[in-house]
Amino acid sequence: MRRPFIAGNWKMNMTAESGTKLIEELKPLVKDANCDVALCVPAILIPAMVKAAQGSNIAIGAENVHWAESGAYTGEISCAQLKEYGVKYAIIGHSERRQYFGETDEGVNKRTLAALAHGITPIVCVGETLEEREGGVTEKVIYKQLKDGLAGVEDVTKVVIAYEPVWAIGTGRTATNVQAQETIAFIRKTIGELFCPKCAEKVIIQYGGSMNAKNCKGLMAQPDIDGGLIGSASLKTEFAQIVNYDNYFEN
Ligand code: PEP
Repeated sequence: MRRPFIAGNWKMNMTAESGTKLIEELKPLVKDANCDVALCVPAILIPAMVKAAQGSNIAIGAENVHWAESGAYTGEISCAQLKEYGVKYAIIGHSERRQYFGETDEGVNKRTLAALAHGITPIVCVGETLEEREGGVTEKVIYKQLKDGLAGVEDVTKVVIAYEPVWAIGTGRTATNVQAQETIAFIRKTIGELFCPKCAEKVIIQYGGSMNAKNCKGLMAQPDIDGGLIGSASLKTEFAQIVNYDNYFEN
């Protein structure tokens, strides 16, 4: 049995004040969740958000992590720096990092290996653009992202994969339950081929892309979807409704 995992991605939003307020509001709302819960927040907010989430079931994650131990990498954050604050997760290879900051599968791979070596769970994002989906190359694109991004990973069950179709991120356009299930089943099959079928059964695979309180129940009902990576809906208490997807009757 795979334990569902719902994570937020605050991107470049919130301040120490507004973030603390939101976490205080969320804490009682998510305390009985039947899934793992995390909020990945901007690096500068990590210390304050770790403090705000203390004693709750909300884990704090980072939005990226560098592969080097230390050194001349202006603007980057190391695993050791994250570990110092008890950070448990790091998003790696988000499409916005790939699109706007030139991150590649090779970089995703180095970041993923470094996170694993430091006991940080990488949330590795994969997904196709609209052009790629319409061109019929979704599976080819995702296969390469998985093969290159996860090369050399010893225990793939320690990796979380987020399937995020680029055309669904921040657009309000969600993949249908069928589209998300189909592609995530393909991801699981590919993990089985690249690693081992038994490991593939254990890997947590999230869906991400305009997931919200209304559509989460249908997505989470799909057999291969184990959770969500939530952008805009994680900036409000709606996040708690997603976390409680199995208890909200109005969804
Ligand atoms: C994301 O940034 O990972 C994401 C899924 O964003 P949104 O939910 O806003 O589409």
